[in-house]
Amino acid sequence: MQSDTHAIHGRLHGSGKQSLVAPIAMSTSFDIDPSTSFSADLNDPAADYIYTRWGNPSVQELEEKVALLEGGEDAVALASGMAAVTGLLLSLLKAGDHIITSNVMYAGVREFCHDDLVRFGVSVSAVDTSNVEAIAEQIRKETKLILIETPCNPILRLSDIRAIATLAQQERIPLAVDSTFATPVLTQPLSLGADYVIHSLTKYMGGHGDAIGGIVVGKRDAITHLKQKANIKIGSIISPFNAWLINRGIKTLPLRMQRHSDNALKVATFLEDHPKVKQVIYPFLSSHPQYGLARRQMKMGGGMLGFQLKDSHRNLPLDRLSFIRYAVSLGHDKTLFCFMPTDELMESSFHLSGEEQQQYRNFAGDGFFRMSVGLESAADICEELNRLLA
Ligand SMILES: *Cc1c(COP(=O)(O)O)cnc(C)c1O
Repeated sequence: MQSDTHAIHGRLHGSGKQSLVAPIAMSTSFDIDPSTSFSADLNDPAADYIYTRWGNPSVQELEEKVALLEGGEDAVALASGMAAVTGLLLSLLKAGDHIITSNVMYAGVREFCHDDLVRFGVSVSAVDTSNVEAIAEQIRKETKLILIETPCNPILRLSDIRAIATLAQQERIPLAVDSTFATPVLTQPLSLGADYVIHSLTKYMGGHGDAIGGIVVGKRDAITHLKQKANIKIGSIISPFNAWLINRGIKTLPLRMQRHSDNALKVATFLEDHPKVKQVIYPFLSSHPQYGLARRQMKMGGGMLGFQLKDSHRNLPLDRLSFIRYAVSLGHDKTLFCFMPTDELMESSFHLSGEEQQQYRNFAGDGFFRMSVGLESAADICEELNRLLA
């Protein structure tokens, strides 16, 4: 079956159930066999439901569907995208280990690696992962994970998953890809050789801006280990209600990604032609520095773009906007945008200097607007931007 069908149905369990839409299983506990062990480590994870922190039907339905969409064996849904990343890191790493990450990625993840992982004795090399050599140079015998994000938040720089996976496999280091911006509709990192795919389900997967969640997809044994640690021990489980909402949102993911991508290309083209705009970054514009890789690695351009103005970014007349919202987050039905000031992000999150900071500035200048192009009419979005920039 094609992914459009998987997005609607998830894993098929046969007919004979009464409701066509599964109920939300809010129960924390389930009837158990008296022989059930109280230690999660002693129970077969595939056995019956016991307690919702260990497993829940609504959560499992979401996990099965995302695993199918990514072409993975299994998945574990977590409380947020951050919980997915931190759960993976905390479950895999111990003091003395080393990891390699992108030097530009979701700010919370970058900050966790820079400020917190090191507290547990894990050393971190943050490099420009759009350059495979830069990764190769950092590999040592203690390296236990490579973590990349493509296209990366906020600057939409890409990393070549296949090339990095080839290197990682040679060195026997697992590769995790945060594919939140791409979604399985645009890119399937596991098919390119990655070991783990991570999503903030809060974004395109849920798609409506009403539920926070995260997920990690991978091999069955690896995911079972992650479930034991991140869900059962650390406790960062997703609410069954959120899992149900996100599962519903995913039904339209293929349709929405098509529309997000069509709209974003139109808006990107409009902005590129606008006299007040200095630069637009969008993977499917031929002006993107990695346009060739984007066309190879992504089926569509996605809904995210960045733009810089020629004049000062401050004092934009936001009161001229009617439906476009000035807000963080992305992947909603609504168009959202906000300013990303380079100096501030360097200090708070990315800590780049010299050549590396210059490479960031090639995408973002002194600061740029990150826009999540919504599902409204592209003509309306462009008209509203025209009024804003007039
Ligand atoms: C938003 C985001 C996250 C964090 O996800 P939350 O659900 O907000 O915790 C991680 N990675 C990327 C690429 C994101 O955009």
